Amino acid sequence: MIVDSYEINEEDIFTWVKSNGARKVLIQAPDGLKKIALAVSELLEERDVRAFISASHAWGGCDVAYDEARSIGVDAIIHIGHHGPVWFKPPGKPRVLFLPAFSTLNPTRLVAQAAREAKDAGASSLAIVTTIQHAKWLPALKEAVASEGLEPITGSLSGVEGLIVGCNYASIRQADDVVVVAGGLFHALGAAIWSERPTWSADPYQEKVSRVELRNVVARRLYAISKAIDARSFLIVVSSKPGQNRVSLATRVKRTLEERGRRVLIAVFNEVTRELLENIQGFEAFVNTACPRLALDDEGVFPGPVLNPGELKYVLSGSVEGYSPRDALVFDLRLLDGP
Ligand code: SF4
Repeated sequence: MIVDSYEINEEDIFTWVKSNGARKVLIQAPDGLKKIALAVSELLEERDVRAFISASHAWGGCDVAYDEARSIGVDAIIHIGHHGPVWFKPPGKPRVLFLPAFSTLNPTRLVAQAAREAKDAGASSLAIVTTIQHAKWLPALKEAVASEGLEPITGSLSGVEGLIVGCNYASIRQADDVVVVAGGLFHALGAAIWSERPTWSADPYQEKVSRVELRNVVARRLYAISKAIDARSFLIVVSSKPGQNRVSLATRVKRTLEERGRRVLIAVFNEVTRELLENIQGFEAFVNTACPRLALDDEGVFPGPVLNPGELKYVLSGSVEGYSPRDALVFDLRLLDGP
């Protein structure tokens, strides 16, 4: 079935629903794919399966609506638009079908253009990564890069060749440059931060190729870190979303900062919003243990400087010496051992 420019596999849905004996299903989709959720709900209702739509955001494979599902007593969740669970192991119940929506827009011409531009800039190899929406095009993209005279390089994430998500770029292998096939600059920016290589965005929706510029984001991160170095009080943000919940990391951060004489409180959120943060007054800086992209892309949500866990080492050392933008995407507890 094609909805807008996305293809989903109806048979996968029917087979999964039948084999799991699901009679009541909650359907979840990111805001841009809600139309697919409606189409799937109609398909299921035609087959006498009761379908409910989650009206909430579905930010990523980290954000599965278990609480909503349990509150209405459904047997199963169909989570549209993401490849699988991110940063958590799904509990046995309710069962979840992760249903990718594959874009029918062919990005080959754009990737060939990015390869030519990378070659003109001196590259001889190009790492190719995509969001799950465009992953089916990967064989054609590798051919396009090779025909431009560059070596195509790919890795994989969760068994999917070339796959990236907004907080995990482990599939980017060593190459001169990187090309990212995705809508907008969100994933391309993350890839540039993580890979520390020249990165090209190939956006199939805008039909546009552009080189990612990190200067602004680095300036904003350095400003936030230097303000946080002087802060005496910190609010640590913990998310209740299954793949964003890092309460043990938050507890460790709290202890570490308290040992350095800071006043610290942990607050739990489902959606992190400015309004909710402003209800908790009296903190000079924030540590975000939820989605790391909040601090990178939406720092305006926080009423003061916000750090991701990997950036805390600069607060602990009192200096930004040796700064790497990549630290914004690191959750490793060992970073807190600090100087
Ligand atoms: S980038 Fe954020 S929303 Fe996306 S999968 Fe990672 S934690 Fe979830």
